[in-house]
Amino acid sequence: MAALVDGFGRVHTDLRVSLTDKCNLRCSYCMPPEGLDWLPAESVLTDDEVVRVVGIAVRDLGITDVRLTGGEPLLRRGLVDIVARLAALEPRPRLALTTNGIGLARMAGGLAAAGLDRINVSLDTMHRATFVALSRRDRLDDVLAGLDAARAAGLTPVKVNTVLMRGVNEDEALDLLDYCLEHGLELRFIEQMPLDPQHGWDRDVMVTAEEIVATLSARHTLTPVGERGSNPAEQYLVDGGPAVVGVIASVTKPFCAACDRVRLTADGQVRNCLFATEESDLRTALRAGADDAMVAARIRAAIAGKRAGHGIDDPLFLQPIRPMSAIGG
Ligand code: SF4
Repeated sequence: MAALVDGFGRVHTDLRVSLTDKCNLRCSYCMPPEGLDWLPAESVLTDDEVVRVVGIAVRDLGITDVRLTGGEPLLRRGLVDIVARLAALEPRPRLALTTNGIGLARMAGGLAAAGLDRINVSLDTMHRATFVALSRRDRLDDVLAGLDAARAAGLTPVKVNTVLMRGVNEDEALDLLDYCLEHGLELRFIEQMPLDPQHGWDRDVMVTAEEIVATLSARHTLTPVGERGSNPAEQYLVDGGPAVVGVIASVTKPFCAACDRVRLTADGQVRNCLFATEESDLRTALRAGADDAMVAARIRAAIAGKRAGHGIDDPLFLQPIRPMSAIGG
């Protein structure tokens, strides 16, 4: 089995699988209030197709980590069964999932029992009014209950993903960290990226990694934890540890040089980068009877053409047409 390597020598071991583009929140940096036109149902990969592609990826392409994303993956009918089938693959991939937490209180136990290893929950505020303003839904309590259930189910470390925006929630960085420290959660701040469907991203509104570290250092001692490697987050021990906090500086300190990620969209397109402006159609090949070798070859070809990085600082930067909600984290 030859590794999945791009033209820059980067070895890809992390497959992100979007199971749906649908979501039950309307976060302002990700979706308009009315939502988006969802993918046609017939274009969405079936459970069998998802399990087949992941099976080929772990057996023939050296993928070791699989992250299930959306939209909101908890909305995917049959999710627990998909997790169980992925956990039964040989070799077994490490299984993670990124969710907004709505419905997690009900599903955490079943997902853990099915074989899910880790979970990331998005949480941008501890204040109900801000949650409603940001997500256009009054569901903060559900998210907090989901976090508790994930911990109780042993999906540890339970990670919390937070996007800070100037004038919206940047004043909550310390409160979010203290909440996570108190509840044994691992917080990661993510710089806001230009992936919104409205193409309204404004670098000045983005709170930078440097600002985040400075804010947290006002109340805590942060000690950097070694090299980042392919891990997107720069990690810091908080007050000598063992608790850590992560900062993902996607825009100001890109980690593309060590990128090990490839994505599969819910409608069966391979994206070799979060910011790819081209995709490789796997769904048509799957439904046209392609054998496993052909499927693997198509994924390899998609990776071979990967660019060096996201190019956000490039004056010719083009934001992808496909919105974040249809790409997945
Ligand atoms: S922006 Fe693209 S190349 Fe850079 S880390 Fe993300 S997926 Fe990898």
